[in-house]
Amino acid sequence: MPMKFQFTITPTVGGETAEGAAEEEVPVYDLVIIGGGAAGLTAAIYAGRARLKTLVLAGPLPGGQPANTDIVENFPGFPEGISGSELTQRFRSQAERFGAQVVLDAVTEVDFSARPFTIRTYGATYRAQAVIIATGAVPRRLGVPGEAEFFGRGVSACATCDGFFYQDKKVVVVGGGDSAIAEGLFLTRFAREVIVVHRRDRLRAAPLHQERAFANPKMHFVWDSVVEEILGEQTVTGVRVRNVKTGETSVIEADGVFVYVGMEPKTEIFAGQVELDEAGYIVTDKHQRTSTPGVFAAGDVQDPDYRQVVIAAGSGAVAAIEAERFLAEETRPTQTQPPV
Ligand code: NAP
Repeated sequence: MPMKFQFTITPTVGGETAEGAAEEEVPVYDLVIIGGGAAGLTAAIYAGRARLKTLVLAGPLPGGQPANTDIVENFPGFPEGISGSELTQRFRSQAERFGAQVVLDAVTEVDFSARPFTIRTYGATYRAQAVIIATGAVPRRLGVPGEAEFFGRGVSACATCDGFFYQDKKVVVVGGGDSAIAEGLFLTRFAREVIVVHRRDRLRAAPLHQERAFANPKMHFVWDSVVEEILGEQTVTGVRVRNVKTGETSVIEADGVFVYVGMEPKTEIFAGQVELDEAGYIVTDKHQRTSTPGVFAAGDVQDPDYRQVVIAAGSGAVAAIEAERFLAEETRPTQTQPPV
């Protein structure tokens, strides 16, 4: 059985010890899971069922990428599809049913140099015998003038959150992958026109998404083009695009710009604690083990290739099974020499 200790820590604020704060007895968790998306919550279901004392630090907005997805159509068991937010809410309820504690707090710092590991949030310090990192990935930014300035004032990376504000408006979607096309299709429910600006002359998105996009009379495509600038005054008024083949630039008038140009793993706080690859993804083996014994990773934070809810969930299950084995191995009695 995994160990369950009591450990004395001082409550912290912003990673610093709160002056004058009384020391508080808090448990050392068997397992702290950092991230509350499909991978983290599935890991929590498995860990809870394995009777590990489990804490999920789910960040301020739990649910990960699926929570920002209108409908998930390819998660098995839901033949009609299920809304991304409902699916993640169900993951959470299931994890809590088996005893996992879910806290909406963002991790700011970790120290994996000694066990129990230390995990700090803005308001607290936690310790754990094992950790699963499931922080996922965040939408990449274009990095062009106007993008940061108009973010939240016409520039968005979440059609599910902001699409409603574009009733009968014209919007630009940047990118040619599944996110751009799925979210562009979602935007056609509100907008009168959705212009997809893609840097090549063919989409990367899956065939089914392509079929739907090409069949939708509200969707139009500007091929071989990149957005060079997002234009606006109080809010967005359009984008300046450049055709990469001809070099010509032109302005597309639009009320909103949705950017879907890929994802970046959320790993800044883990640099130096576990091995990262050149693109910043956590390096794991097939048992979801990182380079630090006792620290596992699951989901998009270690997966540059597939990024599917079902795969994130599967890797979360593997990580939890392996964490439980890791902890059980430690408490197994050592083999003694049989008497002669
Ligand atoms: P993605 O597949 O990496 O596609 C990113 C798109 O943005 C590509 O079309 C890429 O162009 C373009 N792009 C990248 N950098 C750019 C830049 N600087 N300027 C202009 N365009 C740029 O990312 P994603 O669409 O977010 O999808 C991520 C993963 O989630 C994928 O594995 C996808 O299959 C999965 N996903 C699945 C579903 C689903 O319903 N099954 C839904 C959403 C996402 P190029 O094509 O030229 O590289």
